[in-house]
Amino acid sequence: MSGQHSSAAEQTVFDVAVVGAGPAGLGAAAAAARAGVRVVLIDAGHQLGGQYWRHPDESTTDPTRLAGYRDWGEFLALRERILRHCQTGAAVHLASTHVWFVEPPAAGGGRQSWTLHLMPGGPPSRETPPRTVCAERLILCPGAYDRQLPIPGWDLPGVMAAGGVQALLKGHHTLSGRRAVVAGTGPFLLPVAQQLARHGVDVLAVCEANGLARWMRHMPVVARTPAKVSEAATYARSLARARIPYRTATVLTRVDPDASGTQVGAVELARVGPGGLVEKARQRLEVDLVALGWGFTPSLELINAVGAQTRIDADQSLVAVVDDDQQSTVPGVFIAGEATGVGGAMLALAGGELAGIVAAEAGHLERARVRALRREIGRLRAFAAAMHDAHPVPARWPQWLTAETLVCRCEEVAYATLGNAITELGANDARTLKLLTRCAMGWCQGHVCGYASASLAAGGQGRALTADDLRPLAKQFPCAPVPLAHLAGE
Ligand SMILES: Cc1cc2nc3c(=O)[nH]c(=O)nc-3n(C[C@H](O)[C@H](O)[C@H](O)COP(=O)(O)OP(=O)(O)OC[C@H]3O[C@@H](n4cnc5c(N)ncnc54)[C@H](O)[C@@H]3O)c2cc1C
Repeated sequence: MSGQHSSAAEQTVFDVAVVGAGPAGLGAAAAAARAGVRVVLIDAGHQLGGQYWRHPDESTTDPTRLAGYRDWGEFLALRERILRHCQTGAAVHLASTHVWFVEPPAAGGGRQSWTLHLMPGGPPSRETPPRTVCAERLILCPGAYDRQLPIPGWDLPGVMAAGGVQALLKGHHTLSGRRAVVAGTGPFLLPVAQQLARHGVDVLAVCEANGLARWMRHMPVVARTPAKVSEAATYARSLARARIPYRTATVLTRVDPDASGTQVGAVELARVGPGGLVEKARQRLEVDLVALGWGFTPSLELINAVGAQTRIDADQSLVAVVDDDQQSTVPGVFIAGEATGVGGAMLALAGGELAGIVAAEAGHLERARVRALRREIGRLRAFAAAMHDAHPVPARWPQWLTAETLVCRCEEVAYATLGNAITELGANDARTLKLLTRCAMGWCQGHVCGYASASLAAGGQGRALTADDLRPLAKQFPCAPVPLAHLAGE
């Protein structure tokens, strides 16, 4: 958007502000603009698409010519609609822009709109976004990030989050290694292995921590989501064609350095036996890339910033509470996508569109569409619940840790230090562990180690993980890192 536009955006009170331009945000912005209200779409990414539709830079690659991206036609149609709304002035897209703070409407009759405080992100560009935008209603679609579990040696260069490996491939056609193992749990391991193989990487195995028998009790739900079945069949065919073994009930128990001692050289695999016990017998694979994926953790900083309620979901992640219209517990705030529960791109898209229609107060004009979207969301939510039940994080994962294993890589806090804080100093949650050991006090602010440290603290008390354990980890002010100079300018 251009300079005079930016000050115009600063002056304008939009009807709807959408944060996040992944499947959920795109669905929301397109639906709200379709209903004829003024929409501002704000995203930290420099182009539309979010995680699922991440793609190479459009300044060098024409997105309409890209192949091999899932649901690409859907994305191109959405992108086309959003760009058209931007041309007509019905919508404004603020790319490479972070929302770092959200101010609620003034109490007692003053300004009735939300104020979003913005900060330019990404490569410096000619156009600086406005410092604030105002909107009557908000639709928050901030997505999720990779959930991680520590393994001995995971601090070696060459160990990456599965989503990170895939983002480099999808966004930059960049390989993070030549001989890889993809490990953890969940269907997401499959597209990662498929895309690595497509780019010529030798994938030695996909290690799924759970057996697949758990899916058997969900056959009625699976039968109602044929698209997921055909998606799984596509991945199965790709893995078979590339001769990639899919090892179920198998986990990585250690990552060893190569001869130089400076990066990944090999991994150790073990079977998960009855009762979740990791068996003694070990196998080694020589690799230079380890892609780890244990599901996703919704990004809830903005959701906490507006004071919306959260709850713990079936996959033990903290998610936002929404009703059948994607309305949060805060009037005027809607939430869609992974932030309302990890369930994949098509669920995010449907939830986003529904939030867009309702936030634009157009539900009465699109009754049939609203009913269809609710049915779709119900079906895909049921599938997500089945997926979470079939792919839990192994209850006994701390078994493969050694005393020296770093749980917090930023602050180099070892398992033994956390254990001592739990047993000797009485730490009973992640927050106390943080205060006593600096775990999650580093650069990532607990994004990488938060789930693990909270689980260890709860396990130390012999109890299950609760929402109260996870909430402190999702509270973050500012909601995105802000240069002091920017704050000084406020
Ligand atoms: C790295 C990664 C790769 C993935 N790949 C796949 C895949 O191949 N297949 C699949 O089915 N699922 C994949 N997923 C799961 C993915 O979460 C969903 O498929 C889908 O993208 C969720 O859509 P969403 O709109 O909720 O979130 P996202 O697509 O994550 O979009 C959220 C957007 O919000 C923006 N945002 C967040 N906070 C702010 C803020 N404060 N200010 C401004 N912008 C903000 C983010 O930059 C992002 O662009 C992946 C997830 C990750 C993390």
